[in-house]
Amino acid sequence: MIIAVTRETFPGERRVALVPALVAALKKIGGEVRVEAGAGVAAGFTDDAYRTAGAEIVADRRQLFDTADVVLQVRTLGTNLAAGRGDLDLVHEGLIIIGTADPLGNPHSTKELADRGVTLFAMELIPRITRAQSMDVLSSMATIAGYKAVLLAANHLPKMFPMMMTAAGTLKPAKVFVIGAGVAGLQAIASAKRLGAVVQGYDVRPAVKEQVESLGAKFVAMPLATGDAEGAGGYAKQLDEEFYRRQRELMAQTVAASDVCITTAAIPGKKSPVLVTADAVRGMAPGSVIVDLAAERGGNCELTRPDETVVENGVTIFGPTNLPSEVPNHASQMYAKNLTNFVALVTRDGKPHLNLEDQVVRETLATHRGEVVNPRLRELLNLPPLATPQPGSPPVDHLASK
Ligand code: NAD
Repeated sequence: MIIAVTRETFPGERRVALVPALVAALKKIGGEVRVEAGAGVAAGFTDDAYRTAGAEIVADRRQLFDTADVVLQVRTLGTNLAAGRGDLDLVHEGLIIIGTADPLGNPHSTKELADRGVTLFAMELIPRITRAQSMDVLSSMATIAGYKAVLLAANHLPKMFPMMMTAAGTLKPAKVFVIGAGVAGLQAIASAKRLGAVVQGYDVRPAVKEQVESLGAKFVAMPLATGDAEGAGGYAKQLDEEFYRRQRELMAQTVAASDVCITTAAIPGKKSPVLVTADAVRGMAPGSVIVDLAAERGGNCELTRPDETVVENGVTIFGPTNLPSEVPNHASQMYAKNLTNFVALVTRDGKPHLNLEDQVVRETLATHRGEVVNPRLRELLNLPPLATPQPGSPPVDHLASK
């Protein structure tokens, strides 16, 4: 089984799908690892480091694809819509691609890979069950984004985060408000606390209050009925516009009193709710900073523009869409660990082996044997449902034909 790691082609992407330290893990399960020349350089991993770890360096991308059974990428076509198209000419029938694909946001890209006979595992589809935690790339990358969002805010704020009692007087600590306390939000809360800020958090899922408080932050209480705000897999459900209107109103005061607002509220596969209006931004003191981690899906702040810096009334609004790439070494380390765990799950006796009875394999599989197989994606693409494998049906052996 030849496992290939490509150089990322998305503009500015610095992560890589495999780090040298994990080459041995893939060899152990029978993989022969080939890495495109220069693939890890931006993340701090030289070709020599991969070679020393036992991988072969391949300069020609076409040759790398041609000989591969499995390709590992950070961004497959769905998360690399322009530059990723080049790979459509390089893939072959039976090739397995494992990476992020934004399947719910860009289902058409999965269809294009299906049409070429590619078996695509879209890592965003990993189910949120305990067994799959070690393969959950969304959680890994959200951890990095939450941390980096705080640093971005701290770097830009014209104040320091911690309280200072000095001979030149006492400086009050910065006030940070984190909206959405999932993986990224909790990490933002923890990071802001470590820097000495006074931190508040809010989330629609009632279970989160305790987690926010356990990090030493205050949970902002709001008279909103959030009893059924949690959907399947621990994600938030989409709520009606009247709820969001009330929430915006109730939060405006807390937003106004904060130096930094970090927003992370997301609904999987849906546009992010607008929670901070232009008026609320104008209510903040000049010099305040908003970091909107929901920017890619429209943003939680009305004024956010993805990957641009907006200044309104002296308030700076950042809408970064790829913060993990700004911590490429650790982001790649975590991403690669998630992927190698997943590769082990779809390998048996040194060969690709797709056991569709396994929930993690089945739910992550986006395309197979010329079809988009994931039911949610088929629905988005207006394709009729496929017969799904029943418990007890034989495992599907994957025969990579080239
Ligand atoms: P996410 O990125 O989809 O959303 C971020 C947060 O925004 C969520 O906490 C959500 O509740 C919140 N949110 C949505 N609408 C909001 C609103 N109007 N106001 C305020 N907050 C709002 O979610 P995520 O961070 O990827 O994960 C959410 C949760 O899933 C985690 O906290 C965890 O409990 C669970 N999880 C479980 C596993 C597992 O068991 N394997 C893995 C990862 C996460």
